[in-house]
Amino acid sequence: MSRLPPSSNDVFDVGDTKVAKKLSTWISGVAPHVTLKQCVDGATIALQAGRNVLALKCNSCGCMHLDSIPDLGKRAIEHQCTQCSAVFWHAPAAVGNPLGVLHPMLIGGVLHVASMPIIAPPVGLASLAVEPNILGNLSRHV
Ligand SMILES: [Zn+2]
Ligand SMILES: [Zn+2]
Repeated sequence: MSRLPPSSNDVFDVGDTKVAKKLSTWISGVAPHVTLKQCVDGATIALQAGRNVLALKCNSCGCMHLDSIPDLGKRAIEHQCTQCSAVFWHAPAAVGNPLGVLHPMLIGGVLHVASMPIIAPPVGLASLAVEPNILGNLSRHV
């Protein structure tokens, strides 16, 4: 029998090896300038401080924003992109972290996420898998 507390049934412990491996792959795709550890540490500190954690994107360069340690406890609506230095605003106040999109939460002080990302195959493979069907449908209508 599972001994998980009821609140852990539908969430994923980011410390779990399989979960961490999938999240690392996802982070390297959506936010190659940060590491999973930086995101996990940042989200943990921000949630401990009672802050709202959201996935924020820089308006100028499109980078996923990760707030640095000194900003984690602050109520901030103004953010500065660490990649291009552009300043952008987000209201309500939030801590920027790519994990925000996965609904992060602390359970017993340990970071969990309520969603796992869908990792798409490389574009080349995806198009190879789809094209024959599209061509087949087209040829039937010609
Ligand atoms: Zn930027
Ligand atoms: Zn920020």
